[in-house]
Amino acid sequence: MTIIHISGFPRIGRQRELKFALEAFWRGEISLTALENRGHDLRDEHWRMQQGLDWLPVGDFALYDGVLEHTRRLGALPARVRDLADRPREAEFLLARGGQHPETGAAIEAAEMTKWFDTNYHYLVPELDRHTIFSLQIDDLLGQIRQAQTHQAQVKPVLIGPVTWLWLAKSVDGTHRLEHLPALLAAYGQWLEAMADAGVHWVQLDEPILATDLDDEWQHALRVAYHQLRSSRCRILLATYFGHLGLNRYLAATLPTAGLHIDAVRGRADVEPLLGLLPAHKVLSLGVIDGRNVWRTPLAPTLDWLEPVHQRLGDRLWLAPSCSLLHVPVDLELEPELDATLRHNLAFARQKLAELQTLRTALVAGRHAIEPDLADNARHLRARQSHPDVHDHNVRNRLRAVTPAWEHRASAWPERAALQARRLRLPSWPTTTIGSFPQTADIRESRRQFRAGEIDRDAYDAAMRQAIAHCIDVQEALGLDVLVHGEAERNDMVEYFAEHLEGFAFTRHGWVQSYGSRCVKPPILYGDIRRPHAITRRWVNYAQSLTARPVKGMLTGPVTLLNWSFVRDDQPRRDTCRQLALAIRDEVVDLEQAGVAIIQIDEAALREGLPLRRSEWDEHLDWAVSAFRLTASGVSDATQIHTHMCYSDFHDILPAIAAMDADVITIETARSHRELLRAFRDFAYPNAIGPGVYDIHSPRIPEADDIVALLREAARAIPAERLWVNPDCGLKTRRWEEVEPALRQMVSAAHTLRAENKTEHDQYTTA
Ligand code: GLN
Ligand code: ZN
Repeated sequence: MTIIHISGFPRIGRQRELKFALEAFWRGEISLTALENRGHDLRDEHWRMQQGLDWLPVGDFALYDGVLEHTRRLGALPARVRDLADRPREAEFLLARGGQHPETGAAIEAAEMTKWFDTNYHYLVPELDRHTIFSLQIDDLLGQIRQAQTHQAQVKPVLIGPVTWLWLAKSVDGTHRLEHLPALLAAYGQWLEAMADAGVHWVQLDEPILATDLDDEWQHALRVAYHQLRSSRCRILLATYFGHLGLNRYLAATLPTAGLHIDAVRGRADVEPLLGLLPAHKVLSLGVIDGRNVWRTPLAPTLDWLEPVHQRLGDRLWLAPSCSLLHVPVDLELEPELDATLRHNLAFARQKLAELQTLRTALVAGRHAIEPDLADNARHLRARQSHPDVHDHNVRNRLRAVTPAWEHRASAWPERAALQARRLRLPSWPTTTIGSFPQTADIRESRRQFRAGEIDRDAYDAAMRQAIAHCIDVQEALGLDVLVHGEAERNDMVEYFAEHLEGFAFTRHGWVQSYGSRCVKPPILYGDIRRPHAITRRWVNYAQSLTARPVKGMLTGPVTLLNWSFVRDDQPRRDTCRQLALAIRDEVVDLEQAGVAIIQIDEAALREGLPLRRSEWDEHLDWAVSAFRLTASGVSDATQIHTHMCYSDFHDILPAIAAMDADVITIETARSHRELLRAFRDFAYPNAIGPGVYDIHSPRIPEADDIVALLREAARAIPAERLWVNPDCGLKTRRWEEVEPALRQMVSAAHTLRAENKTEHDQYTTA
């Protein structure tokens, strides 16, 4: 019988129960025991939903982060909380959120958080040093195994594999991460034995690094690891996901494990060659259902290629989603208001479980056994393809008519900069912000009332205008040079634009965990993208009417809209991105016509879309950059285009960022200024730059002197006449009491630098 299983289920709960329990715990409203009990109940509920699977996953649940819990179970928490081994949860939350040591009172810095491969999930980076030891603390996991066993099913623990765990870790004292491999493998060996004692037969070890480029050293580490673990009494299912195996194909096929799971959605091309490479005893688990997107699996086309594989492998074929279902919302049943055609074409985590059963039935009993499902599936897919929102001839014709000239500004940057300088008359070291100002309780309350129908549009607009007017007043008083309207009307930089474009749909409960208790609700991009009306003009116009200083228009760019949505799977992402580009381009042109002289197109997520393999970067960056240029190039030379990016590891993509040809980029740098400046020393960025001068993620008020020092340092890498002065990101999560003094320091730093340079030229006159 074909085994069906999953690598993991969403943890947050259908109604985000885990989020609310965590936050109640942090506020001191419930005890740690009560929180643990909520976790216990959620696991039961999730396993009940998984009835029908042959193996229930264990180890996919975590209160805050799975990598953090894994690190804690290895007994490998970093030095600053190591003495809290007997209070593991406290140690975990301290690392996750920072805070005070419960005994010494010392400030404990939070661990670094970073994205889990190419997903929008963030994990806490394990830290290694020469004192790191491993001492297993897996009682809680063994308890979860017993809990799962009460569900009358076999359990399959799912753990991060040893080599991937090391690869995700960072060494804080220069020791080589792989030096820790022998000790780590000893710990995994014990861990496997303990699970065998608990009645476990199969263990899944996740090594998604197999979907990245691995050098000889790391390939060797995988060989060493799995040769050593082969003597375990548990059978090991080695799992990889998020991409194809590429050059790691032979390695993955021949490592001495009892089974191999691959992502057969993104790595379909691996399947055929693997059939030839796999030893005759090995199980092949195919991730045939997309764990990264929300679309229903097309049954007949999947069976077309799957049936011959089943004929060859028989019961050695297992079926699963491509990766953990952590990355999709829990239950489509909660979305009765979605357009019916769309809804019939979607599958969230629960629905994907049902799809697995259907596919298995078809393989085991023949297609006739799922005849109604097949007919239904095909009918809905056809309905989707003929849905009027999905294919819009005007959009397609317009895109076909786009010529390369649409991606170029009329003149090169130096000429544009000179024209812009004459028009804007900005001082040297011009000051500005990234766009948003505090989203106060009042603002959020007005939005809630408007959505709930408690106030009408006029009342809502009046509230927004009031927020904008306040924002302009404050900026004028502070003496900022380029103002913004403050984005009061935006709940979220992606959702706001998605709501004003056609081709997007929205769920009510389609939450996906981003980190800890933070969840996002990505819009679903399902159709051709149209902009039925101007979106931002009236707000910017209103802001501009209140001040003589220039107000910068504020838009979200096409690559970010794409990367932070669930995107249609019936055409390449690049084509969808071009549609978004054209819609936002219209908005850019619209703002220019309304007299807006500076327009910022945020590409906060440009880096996130990068493929896991370097060899695929160029092609990806090529279309991402060209989408940005298409968005930005409809304006005259005298209109200044800004862009903003939310990360500082730029060195490897600087040429692409330069190719975007924005007049000014503002970037997040405050947390790793030196890194960034080094990048700019190595690569002569040709246009203007605003390296963020203080970290908005911290409530700390920066000192003007520090900002001056930072900018002087920047001026050694980048000519001063091309520098801007700004915080490193938007201010919407901060309070006014923090924002005003911080910006005052920033403006004062700019004044200091200006006074020093009095005898020199104003900005750009040398360009
Ligand atoms: N303009 C947006 C803001 O200021 C940019 C947000 C971001 O970079 N993530 O909030
Ligand atoms: Zn940012």
